[in-house]
Amino acid sequence: MVKRCGRPTKTRGKCRIEIPADDPCCIQHATDEERATVFAERLANREQRQEAYRERRELWEAARERGIELRQAATERAKETGAAATELAEVLIRDYLSPAVPPPLAAEFRALAENRLRYAVADEETGYRPGRVGLVKGELRAVARGLPPTVEQAARAASHDGGVLDIMGKGHWAAGWLYHLTGRGMYPPAPELTAETVGILTDCLKRDLDRLHSLAAQIDDEASIEGITRWATRAIVRAAVPEARPLRELTVPVLRNTRYGRLDVVVWSAFGPDTVVEIDSALNPASAQKLAFARDAGAMPIWVRFGEGRTDAPDGVTVIDLR
Ligand SMILES: [Zn+2]
Repeated sequence: MVKRCGRPTKTRGKCRIEIPADDPCCIQHATDEERATVFAERLANREQRQEAYRERRELWEAARERGIELRQAATERAKETGAAATELAEVLIRDYLSPAVPPPLAAEFRALAENRLRYAVADEETGYRPGRVGLVKGELRAVARGLPPTVEQAARAASHDGGVLDIMGKGHWAAGWLYHLTGRGMYPPAPELTAETVGILTDCLKRDLDRLHSLAAQIDDEASIEGITRWATRAIVRAAVPEARPLRELTVPVLRNTRYGRLDVVVWSAFGPDTVVEIDSALNPASAQKLAFARDAGAMPIWVRFGEGRTDAPDGVTVIDLR
């Protein structure tokens, strides 16, 4: 039999708190006399525990404040640890980065390593996080060993992982990398499929065409061009069929100066070739180059054009002219 307190409560009848068989009631409902006798020891213990807890809390609070101070000092210190970080990054690159890593990825790795090491050195020097340099170096070695991406990784990403290849935390176009690494594209899309896709996108884009024209009339600066590009991007993303996955701003292994370019929209589908869309207000040679690459990789390249200029495109690239 469970013994319960049984004393009257203020609101809900008798108190139902379980108590040891020898107790007259629960501590809460004890009289002053019972508190001084039956519960005296337990109340004293409780107070002691509360006191100890308060003290521990204060210690923790102090430790937390010290941590915040140290972190601030480390952040400040990181402004001066650039040279040390560069030296450490050099060694990592020399010892762990494969010469086969393409220059844009090598440059990105260098920037990543220098930045992370700058903070790691500062964290150690200020005592904020001891051992941080070793830890970060270990993580960076693992990143370096994972470069460049392999054919297997690109193939898996292109077919199973939604079309995105993760390289140093950034989204790259998987099918583009597969082509870049193997020199072989996916089988090209059937002409009917391209025609259907272009039809869907054109319908979707032209539905709001009146609005686009009023926007286009205002094109006199970069801002409104960007506005139309954003609008068209959204329209294309909306036009993607449910089983497809629209992806914005994926990096593509096509050089633009010393860096890789990015694609406005890629629509990935588990069942067919990717659709690659560039949206431009003028004849942009970089877009033509990216779309030709997409074509060679076996995707459906589509160039949405508004604004000014000729609309000639590389062979195999479909133009949707919104003017
Ligand atoms: Zn009670």
